[in-house]
Amino acid sequence: LNKWNEIPLAPPDKILGISEAFVKDTNTKKINLGVGAYRDNNGRPIIFPAVKEAEKILYGLETEKEYTPIIGSKKYQNIVKNFIFNNSNKDPNGKKLIDEGRIVTSQTISGTGSLRVIADFLNRFYSSKKILVPKPTWANHVAVFNDAGLQPEFYNYYDKSANDLEFESLKSSLLSQPKESIVLLHACCHNPTGLDLTPEQQDEVLQIIQDKSFYPLVDMAYQGFASGDPYKDIGFIRKLNSLVVDGKINSYALCQSFAKNMGLYGERTGSISIITESADHSKAIESQLKKLIRPIYSSPPIHGSKIVEVIFDEQYQLLPKWLGDLDAVVGRLNTVRSKLYENLDKSSYNWDHLLKQRGMFVYTGLTSEQVIKLRNDYSVYATEDGRFSISGINDGNVEYLANAINEVIK
Ligand code: PMP
Repeated sequence: LNKWNEIPLAPPDKILGISEAFVKDTNTKKINLGVGAYRDNNGRPIIFPAVKEAEKILYGLETEKEYTPIIGSKKYQNIVKNFIFNNSNKDPNGKKLIDEGRIVTSQTISGTGSLRVIADFLNRFYSSKKILVPKPTWANHVAVFNDAGLQPEFYNYYDKSANDLEFESLKSSLLSQPKESIVLLHACCHNPTGLDLTPEQQDEVLQIIQDKSFYPLVDMAYQGFASGDPYKDIGFIRKLNSLVVDGKINSYALCQSFAKNMGLYGERTGSISIITESADHSKAIESQLKKLIRPIYSSPPIHGSKIVEVIFDEQYQLLPKWLGDLDAVVGRLNTVRSKLYENLDKSSYNWDHLLKQRGMFVYTGLTSEQVIKLRNDYSVYATEDGRFSISGINDGNVEYLANAINEVIK
């Protein structure tokens, strides 16, 4: 029986809704701070120059568009393993785990696909369904985990009234959760707050993870956006590798994406890696990952992963170029962050939290009323949680934006 007429209308995606309203607005000074994708100083999207060169090389090289294996090519897997876990030959613990066959890596459909695959995997094989996520977190985390049959629950992370981490209540809320829960941690540039744990705070959380036998799931969507250097933004992974090598943690999983740091958004290029207890476990886990992925999308797309393969192939010398491209992107974001800060009225509002935040966003702490006023009175479009995408800000509009903010906080 056809029951299509009983299907209720789903709520629109909040960020896409903002973009639609932005497009309709005829104010020439309008600013879109909703989208989480990079724009240059002229407000335009870019292709990283190193990526463009890799594509030219690929154009000459490619002779087929055959399927890649279910979990991607061995070459791509090895690049990701060495780049992330061995920090390109700079992490002896990561190297040990790779050499011992204790890392299973699969190419995935970017970071979102990676999160979904690991969520399905944990739902199928892990002892607990409960997954603890920071409050706030990227909204899609909750949706992905729910849809995969896990049970997301928040742990305290950020105190919006103080515009700061609430570390004591973060710890107590984690400690109040049942043993063996899964805990999601952002590797760096926490979305949406831009505020990360200090290395010392990471150590304390890692101690709780050990004491409570939590399963660590790390999401790394902004590697390189904290410092400008992807090799520096990986301290948390190195800490985990060391704990695994010391036998203090058996296993963890990492979701990784090249969407932001290589600008490969629509190419959907990422990975899931599971650190295992032994090479034998790895074999079983890899076989189960294949069994899980095959009926969903069979195998991942190839263009983005081939770009990654070319960039990391020493004969083309593109790696330094890519690192330079990324550093320039992050440099612009930081310059704009400082310019915004300079132009904000600090006499009635403390804006110092802006300087502590890292990554693509400023988490302003503005109320939803203030965000709505910015939209209605100044054509400044942002999500109502007060998260502004720095990408939408440039030399041409930063003063207008600061001025608008100064008016709404009066
Ligand atoms: N995790 C976080 C925290 C993100 O912000 C994003 C992108 N907005 C992703 C994962 C996944 O992005 P993608 O699927 O484009 O790689």
